[in-house]
Amino acid sequence: MKFQSIVVLILFALFIACNQETPKQEPITSDSRPDRHSFSQPKLAVAKHLDLNLKVDFDQKKLYGTATWTIENLGKAKEIIFDTDGLNIVKVTVGQEAKEVQFLLDAQDSVLGAALHVPIEPTTNLVAIEYQTGPNAAALGWMDASMTAGKTKPFLFTQGQAILTRSWIPCQDSPGNRITYHANVSDVPDGMMAVMSATNPQEPAKNTYTFKMDQPIPPYLIALAIGDIAFKPISERTGVYAEPVMLDKVAWEFADMEKMVETAESLYGPYAWGRYDVIVLPPGFPFGGMENPRLTFATPTVIAGDRSLVSLVAHELAHSWSGNLVTNATWSDFWLNEGFTVYFERRIMEALYGADFAEMQDELEYNELIEEMKSLDSADTRLKVDMTGRNPDDGATMVPYQKGSMFLRMLEQKTDREKWDAFLKSWFEANKFTSRTTEDFLDFLKKNYLDKYQVTANVEEWVYKPGIPANCPIPHSTRLAALEKAAQDIANGLPNTKNWAPQEWVHFIRSLPESTNVATFKNLDSKFHLTQSTNAQVQLAWYEVNIRHGYVTEILPQVENYLVTVGRRYLVKAVYQALKDIGHIEDARRIFAKAKPGYHAVTRGTIEEMLK
Ligand SMILES: [Zn+2]
Repeated sequence: MKFQSIVVLILFALFIACNQETPKQEPITSDSRPDRHSFSQPKLAVAKHLDLNLKVDFDQKKLYGTATWTIENLGKAKEIIFDTDGLNIVKVTVGQEAKEVQFLLDAQDSVLGAALHVPIEPTTNLVAIEYQTGPNAAALGWMDASMTAGKTKPFLFTQGQAILTRSWIPCQDSPGNRITYHANVSDVPDGMMAVMSATNPQEPAKNTYTFKMDQPIPPYLIALAIGDIAFKPISERTGVYAEPVMLDKVAWEFADMEKMVETAESLYGPYAWGRYDVIVLPPGFPFGGMENPRLTFATPTVIAGDRSLVSLVAHELAHSWSGNLVTNATWSDFWLNEGFTVYFERRIMEALYGADFAEMQDELEYNELIEEMKSLDSADTRLKVDMTGRNPDDGATMVPYQKGSMFLRMLEQKTDREKWDAFLKSWFEANKFTSRTTEDFLDFLKKNYLDKYQVTANVEEWVYKPGIPANCPIPHSTRLAALEKAAQDIANGLPNTKNWAPQEWVHFIRSLPESTNVATFKNLDSKFHLTQSTNAQVQLAWYEVNIRHGYVTEILPQVENYLVTVGRRYLVKAVYQALKDIGHIEDARRIFAKAKPGYHAVTRGTIEEMLK
């Protein structure tokens, strides 16, 4: 669609004029702006419900939108403030009568974007913002057809967390503000389907789709995907979306989804969101997964062909309680989302695959945490981290995830599973559909667990002090210990690998001694066909370790095939790095040239930089 370019220019000139008149802002207290990553002041004027009208333009890689917000003017405020980032604001109207008003857009902050000030009256209850997304909208992943599995149609996905939703919708973009939304997405090209974190279609419609999310969610959970998408049910309330060429494989991989939801419910109470579906994104999707409510976004690399990587789905599903039902109020409280979710994910895996499997996963991620902590500022190893003035994405280390989970495990061990689970269930029940701070949780913990069962715990040390406290329940997996021994003994013969999970293969491969020679790698390969693996995690470990040991030429065709079909950044980065480090940079460049059209910009940028 190419409408209104002249109108846009004129309005743009007006908008520049508005900008220049922007008065100096009043100093803002932390009370009126409780979340330092949002310009909004929700205690004065708050946006509660969004009616979103979007037109999609794949040619221009642009969304044309009108966001109509139902607002409440709580403090007789003279203005309501929204977050924007790179949006071209065309026009703003207020009230039922849609009266046009002069808005003000502040100068752009490199992390937070720009505050949009809209004048309102004490009785104003509607604000409609007409806008277009900018060329660098951080939330929008426009993928060319070459980055998809089907290779015939382009694809669009959004990623809102942490503070990116403001780059495609003007909103009060704080996890502390909860909203409901209805959306109408039109101009969807023929043969393509749109889905959102809302009620979803199961059949393609004719170019226009409507959506409803009537449960209050933080704005970072508004999500949209558009592409050549088809649906397949797994159970009555669960199902999968994927490109048609991937759909059957995806459905097979996720056959246990209903069992997983039931297991989660038995631990922490009823699933609150109606349907639980997963969309598996095209190969170019650069991330792992995102817990968008009702519709988890997942990387295609979970499709391992052996149902072995479903822990990612357990993680995103667990967010239906921790994160989506009860949300961190600010990004400094991020561990409330992720620590709970990792703890919860382990419990689901334990119930489904046994305690020793969950323990193994726990130790692997504990090791990662310890490794990562070596390079972190000590202040960033606290659970509650002050993210003021920083990009909240910088706080997404293993600390909120794994240290957060171990904190909860330490608390669990103060009593027993029964009391602890009842406590967690009561936390979700008492706080559902709200956003909470660390301090809210600590109060609740004291009253309903510590005092109730007369136990003491070094809670302050865990939450506010750096490092790992001495009473950390350090995971110890006997399965991992056995693998390490088998790896060390490799010179004496090949191990018994019966029933090894891919995670075990990865650990075994990575534990092989530095001195392992090429003959041993060849021997392992001819017996266990590791070069031919379809599991991306095993492939990553095997290819990287082999390349570093000089077993390259024989496996290069498979390495090439892997790098061309997988797009997730962390899965390809280490393999390119290994090729470069051992002097095969020309091979790396040749393969990259071939793989590049299939990569997302995020992946492409990283590899380009490495190989230049
Ligand atoms: Zn998570």
